[in-house]
Amino acid sequence: MEQRAAREESPACACCGEPAVVYQLVTRRHLCGTHLVLDVEERVRATIQETGQISPGDRIAVGLSGGKDSTALLVILSRLLPAWPGASLVAITVDEGIAGYRADTMRAAERLTEWLGVEHRIVSFRELIGDDLDALLLGRETQACTICGILRKKALADAARAAGATAIATGHNLDDEAQSVLMNAFRGDLPRLVRTTGTGTSPVFLPRIKPLMAIPEKEIASYLFVQDLFSVLPECPYTKYALRAEVRTLLSDYECRHPGTMQHLIESKRTIEKYCAGTPVMEPLHRCRECGDPCSGDLCQVCRLRHSLLE
Ligand code: SF4
Ligand code: ZN
Repeated sequence: MEQRAAREESPACACCGEPAVVYQLVTRRHLCGTHLVLDVEERVRATIQETGQISPGDRIAVGLSGGKDSTALLVILSRLLPAWPGASLVAITVDEGIAGYRADTMRAAERLTEWLGVEHRIVSFRELIGDDLDALLLGRETQACTICGILRKKALADAARAAGATAIATGHNLDDEAQSVLMNAFRGDLPRLVRTTGTGTSPVFLPRIKPLMAIPEKEIASYLFVQDLFSVLPECPYTKYALRAEVRTLLSDYECRHPGTMQHLIESKRTIEKYCAGTPVMEPLHRCRECGDPCSGDLCQVCRLRHSLLE
């Protein structure tokens, strides 16, 4: 009787009439767990297809932190992969060396790759630059995410190349992409605004793909939750220094009141990109004079960082 009352109270799924678990702000649809899973996977497949992110025979290195976005990415890609004959996956986890945070997410990453039967490689900041992030940050904690981001990108790229990957997939979702547009606009950083594309077409970088870039963060969490794949994991202790945290709150509040805002920000970015094509902002990248990695100046960010950490 109580169950029946609960069924009657919850909104019905727009596809089958069963009780809904999620409301999509933009499409204004309620969906049940089954149809949410189908819908998310179909939108990821469509994004990959429309943007040509995966081709037959590709070897995709998936950046797997063990958190919800990268977990959903690996689950979805392992289900969709048979659509591209000969394509394969390798998961790469970067251990930054953050006490009280990384151990749990590393275990989650190991369990997931075992369950999915995906090859898993682990690389660390200690191997890359000789020390853990915690030690590197002593006295410069406020720069945590900048330093971590530069080193993680390098560790992931090196590990992907070593694994013979043809592309790197990351779990950036719609919220992340919209936040990046806004953060770069706040900083007045036009080159970065137009260079952080979803498909990574630069000839000098291993292509970076973002198959979840059209899916809102909330739907990714629900996608995992309805399949019993959601785990509550500790938060990185340096999150409090991240500008992104402020932008996330601001933007999700705005999206709630004005659905479609995040999508509009991404569309604005694409328009700016088109106008910038062929201008100095889109100048081709050079090679770092010390390590040969692609960069926009004389030294790449990792080599610059190495110098500043040694000073
Ligand atoms: Fe690195 Fe910042 Fe993310 Fe922590 S919050 S893992 S320091 S980027
Ligand atoms: Zn360099």
